[in-house]
Amino acid sequence: MDYPNDTLKRPLKDLRISVIDQCNFRCPYCMPAEVFGSQYAFLKKNELLNFEEITRLVRIAADLGVHKIRLTGGEPLLRKNLDQLIKMLTDIPGIDDLALTTNGVLLPRFASALKGAGLRRLTVSMDALDNGVFQKMNGRNVDVQSVLTGIEAAAEAGLSIKVNMVVQKGVNEGEILPMVRYFRETGHTLRFIEFMDVGNHNGWSLEQVFPSLKIVELIQAEFPLEPLNPNYRGEVARRYRYKGSEVEIGIIASVTQPFCANCTRARLSADGKLYTCLFATEGWDMREILRNGENDDDIRETLREIWVNRHDRYSEMRTEILKKHLHPHKVEMSYIGG
Ligand code: SAM
Ligand code: SF4
Ligand code: SF4
Repeated sequence: MDYPNDTLKRPLKDLRISVIDQCNFRCPYCMPAEVFGSQYAFLKKNELLNFEEITRLVRIAADLGVHKIRLTGGEPLLRKNLDQLIKMLTDIPGIDDLALTTNGVLLPRFASALKGAGLRRLTVSMDALDNGVFQKMNGRNVDVQSVLTGIEAAAEAGLSIKVNMVVQKGVNEGEILPMVRYFRETGHTLRFIEFMDVGNHNGWSLEQVFPSLKIVELIQAEFPLEPLNPNYRGEVARRYRYKGSEVEIGIIASVTQPFCANCTRARLSADGKLYTCLFATEGWDMREILRNGENDDDIRETLREIWVNRHDRYSEMRTEILKKHLHPHKVEMSYIGG
C-alpha cells in the first residue's frame, strides 16, 4: 500500500479530531449494535485527551500548516463542555476554519452554546427522510423528526449547515430524491457519500455501493444541475448547483473516484493516536509524548516526521487489495471520526 513520497503535493492542512468514541446511535454501516454493544470497551475518561492537550497539539499542528479543524467522533455532542474546547480552538492563530460533524439529535440542547463559543458551521448526518428507513439506518429507532428539529435549532442559532447522506445500495437509494426535494427547499447543501469499507464490522461489499455518477443522473432527471469549480484545491466533494438556483449539492465519491492524490488530512483519535489515513491499521501515540514532558519543538518535529513519511493511498489501492483477498485490520470510523 505504498505511495511515492509526495509531501509537497499533499501538505498537512486539515485535522479531524474525534473527541469521544461513544455514540447514541448504532448505524449498522459504522457501529453495528451487535459489535458495539454493552460489552464493548469504550475509552475511559482518563484515556481521552483533555482540552488543554488537544489545544496544544492543534497549536503545534497549526505551525506546520494545519488551518482547518473538524470535531467529530463517535458523537461529539456527547463530550462534556464541548463549547469550551471550541472556544479554545477558535483562539488559535492560523486556524481559520473550525467545523463539527454530528448526528444532530442533541443540537436543540447545544446549538446556541456552540455558536456562542465561536463555531460557525456544522455538518449533520442524515441518511433518509422516511422514518422507517431512518430508524433502520441509525440502529436505535431514533425518529427522523429529532434530527430535523436539531437542524432547525442549529439554523435558528445562526450556524451554517450542510447535510451528509451515506448512500447504501439496497438500503436507502430510494431516499435520494426525497432528501433532494426537502433540502433544496430549505437551502442546505446536501452531500452524498458513497458507502465505504471503513473499520472491520460493517459487512461492506462493492455491490452495496451506489455509485456517485448514478446519484447525479438520478437528480439531473428531476432537477438539472450545473457543475461548480472546487472552492479550493483538493476539495473532497464535487460541487453542483441546481440550475437557476443558488442551492448546491456535493458528491463524495470516495470509492468510485478516489482522491488520495490530493489528501491533506490527518486524524486524531479521542485518546490521542494520530492516523494519516481513514483506513490506516495503526496510529502514532501523541498522548504519550504530550504527557511525557516533551517540549513543543520536539512534538512538532515528531508530527512533521510522521507526515513526511506518509505513503497512504488506500482508496486508490482498494481494487487491488480486494483482488488479493487481503483483510487489513483497519481503525474503526467511530474511533477516529469520519
Ligand atoms: N456521529 C457523528 C455523525 O454521524 O455525524 C460524527 C461521526 S460519524 C463517524 C462521521 C461521518 O461518517 C458521518 O457523516 C457518517 O455518515 C460517516 N460514515 C460513517 N460510516 C460510514 C461508512 N461506512 N461509509 C461512509 N460514511 C460513513
Ligand atoms: Fe454514531 Fe455517527 Fe457512527 Fe452513526 S455514523 S454510529 S451517528 S458515529
Ligand atoms: Fe486520504 Fe486515505 Fe482517504 Fe486516500 S484513502 S483519501 S489517503 S484518507
